[in-house]
Amino acid sequence: MSTPTRITVATTWLDGCSGCHMSFLDMDERLIELARKIDIVYSPLVDSKELPETVDVGLLEGSISSVDDLEKARAFRRHCKILISLGDCAVNGNVPAMRNYFKLDDVMDRSYRENVTLQPQIPTRGVPALLTTVKPIHGEVAVDIFVPGCPPSADAIWYVLNELIEGRVPDPSSVTRFGA
Ligand code: SF4
Repeated sequence: MSTPTRITVATTWLDGCSGCHMSFLDMDERLIELARKIDIVYSPLVDSKELPETVDVGLLEGSISSVDDLEKARAFRRHCKILISLGDCAVNGNVPAMRNYFKLDDVMDRSYRENVTLQPQIPTRGVPALLTTVKPIHGEVAVDIFVPGCPPSADAIWYVLNELIEGRVPDPSSVTRFGA
């Protein structure tokens, strides 16, 4: 039996709750087996904070809500051979996109002025500017594989990564459902 090739994996979260990354960690003891098959080269879960020039698989959690999110999504698309939208926020906007029903100025007023009693002010320094509209990942960059779920189960993430490790194209529809 041939030994699967090790693959490099990068992950990051955009506008999400980090729950999809927590689901990744929920693979529990299977992470030890996974560590024999993949190198995590960039992620909030590891110390490496510079995206290598070429990465086999990139996982993006969260939607694109700010200029910072947009830059990260574009960088992942440039550097990753296969880009995965991980979770409902990445796939369809989910919770972050609920603000799309309102004008951005109204959202900012509601959040930072109307509901605040002490020094109401809209932050402009040290925080990335919000985009007018929240978009799923594929609203800005091409996505190769969609893994829905809020969050996707650890089993689903395990399945997708193992299929890629084995050189197959995964079909996440068999192990995922929106909102599950
Ligand atoms: S899909 Fe769900 S778990 Fe994942 S980042 Fe969005 S809200 Fe959190």
